[in-house]
Amino acid sequence: MKQDIKSRTTEQLQEEFSLLSLPRFRAGQVYAWLHQKGERSFEEMTNLPKALRDQLAETCVITAPTVARKQVSALDGTRKYLWELSDGNCIETVLMQYHHGNTVCISSQVGCRMGCAFCATGLAGLSRSLTAQEMVDQVLHVSRDFGERVTSVVFMGQGEPFANFDNTVEALRMLNDPEGLAIGARHLTVSTCGVIPGIRRFAELPEQFTLAISLHSAIQTTRNQLMPGVKKFTLLRLHEAIQEYVEKTGRRPTYEFAMIDGINDTNPEMQALVDFCAGTLCHVNLIQLNDIPDSPFRPSPIEKVEALQRRLTMHGVETTIRNSRGGDIDAACGQLKQRRFRAR
Ligand code: SAH
Ligand code: SF4
Repeated sequence: MKQDIKSRTTEQLQEEFSLLSLPRFRAGQVYAWLHQKGERSFEEMTNLPKALRDQLAETCVITAPTVARKQVSALDGTRKYLWELSDGNCIETVLMQYHHGNTVCISSQVGCRMGCAFCATGLAGLSRSLTAQEMVDQVLHVSRDFGERVTSVVFMGQGEPFANFDNTVEALRMLNDPEGLAIGARHLTVSTCGVIPGIRRFAELPEQFTLAISLHSAIQTTRNQLMPGVKKFTLLRLHEAIQEYVEKTGRRPTYEFAMIDGINDTNPEMQALVDFCAGTLCHVNLIQLNDIPDSPFRPSPIEKVEALQRRLTMHGVETTIRNSRGGDIDAACGQLKQRRFRAR
């Protein structure tokens, strides 16, 4: 059987190459083709001798997802990729261009088990978790297809990263690897719906990765309805775990708050959010809920979003209103769907 060459570290490649009496630097060249350029064919590795390319092609395979569909937003150029994985499962990845660089939003699972009531991914359930390489491949191949460097990555596509903790951390380290895509740790952001054991483990990592928490309500009963999958991780304990994270790391977490008409945009909801945040190190991102099919929830009017921003700012809480991107191609937050069948 042919070997999966992408699963090898540089050291392993060097060792294997030296057993074949090949110079060590060839291993580094092959590694760069695979992990920096996302090359899919040995034939195209033009700085290698032809004999080596042929030898590799005979003994190894290069695993990579295939593009099942690609859409470009007419509104803002946001691109959405539907990938087919080796087992036929499909996942989505989104590329957003900003003046400061390119951000890729990747999936950490095929679907999601958390069942948040406002999220298209959550409504369809979980198929399986992704491997670290499957997470990294999304960035590698979007970058290759688009022909530009990716400057930041957010784990905000399909799935709950902390329900797939070890693979997520492995993917973060691969993305950060100077011999790979070399994306700065601070530019790698993981978003969780509030899985406390994950937050605690994340706080122990030596790297400066960024943490975002989907809050959506600071009132327990509302949050239970919106996010039933994290009911057991109460707001009180969540607040505690986040403050410990801040003390330990000195890093500033972000709260995501999608405003839903009549649900989390009322006076008591706004006050509860202010109370949750005031006096702590944090940044709040407000967005208007994105519409998803068959949902009873509607976005709050923009005036409410602005009112909440003023209120938070007044209490010293830094707050940004985010515009959703790629709404016309269902690429916006929460719109990524679980696809049960092969997309052809
Ligand atoms: N599972 C993780 C990461 C993926 S979701 C998490 O929940 O944090 C990325 C973000 O989109 C989360 O903040 C999520 O709550 C938000 N989101 C989900 N559905 C949405 C919708 N319909 N409108 C706006 N944001 C939504
Ligand atoms: Fe899962 Fe996040 Fe969607 Fe909730 S919001 S269902 S945790 S992907």
